[in-house]
Amino acid sequence: MAGPRDYQVEGLVIRDAVVGERDRVVVLFSRDEGKLSFIARGARRPGSSLGPCVQRLTRGRFQCVRRRSLDLITQAVTVESYARLKADLWPMSCALYLAELVDSSTVEGAANRRLYDLLVQAMDTIDQGGGNDMLLRFFELRLLEQLGFCPSLRRCVACNAVLQPVANSLSARQGGAMCPACTPFCEDALPLSVDALKVLRFYLANDMDMSCRARLSAQLAAEVEEHLRRFLDSILQKELKSRAWLSRLRAEALLTGNREEPTIARRPELEQD
Ligand SMILES: [Zn+2]
Repeated sequence: MAGPRDYQVEGLVIRDAVVGERDRVVVLFSRDEGKLSFIARGARRPGSSLGPCVQRLTRGRFQCVRRRSLDLITQAVTVESYARLKADLWPMSCALYLAELVDSSTVEGAANRRLYDLLVQAMDTIDQGGGNDMLLRFFELRLLEQLGFCPSLRRCVACNAVLQPVANSLSARQGGAMCPACTPFCEDALPLSVDALKVLRFYLANDMDMSCRARLSAQLAAEVEEHLRRFLDSILQKELKSRAWLSRLRAEALLTGNREEPTIARRPELEQD
């Protein structure tokens, strides 16, 4: 029977760690309360019914008990195991990157329903074979937007002039684009091409589905990636392991000729079953 200390949360497991021989620490990004940490007792025991539900990148409904230290997960039901995503290295790496991004850019207990919806939609898209670089860039920009750090892309952040279709610059420290007249006075301003500005505006104006269909040249994709990386680095607390791993995977795919389009991830063959 549910007592006064019992409650239920719905969320995605974004991090987990082993504790002792049988238990697991589980970090959820929950639908209604943001990031939350729990202990799942016995989750590592063979045959544990809790075990599969508290695996990283699993979405579920969790029955919890409040405690002075970490709350307990006592029961769970899997809503989405994302089995297809986990079966292939590239999509799983993309999903782990997004989970680590959310984990590293949020604090415990700060509710953000729109970020949760964005994360779930991205997981669904990757699970359905849409894990490409455009999705990652779209997610990065929308994450910045949801956290209140969206780059200003219409007017110069220094003088407020409307940006013209010429080579401008982007400054993570100043929080947005700068016109050519203001650029020389900003130390961290990085050149922003007309096309890169258009791509960033496109991601803000369109949904995930539409944004994932964009096709960019390798040079333009690299420019957009670098700008977003600098913005993310200005709010993240640490280096992301999963980002280094993704870069390595991409470099290896290029070396071995595994992927035809360097800027677009190869679509995994998920439609076999
Ligand atoms: Zn200016």
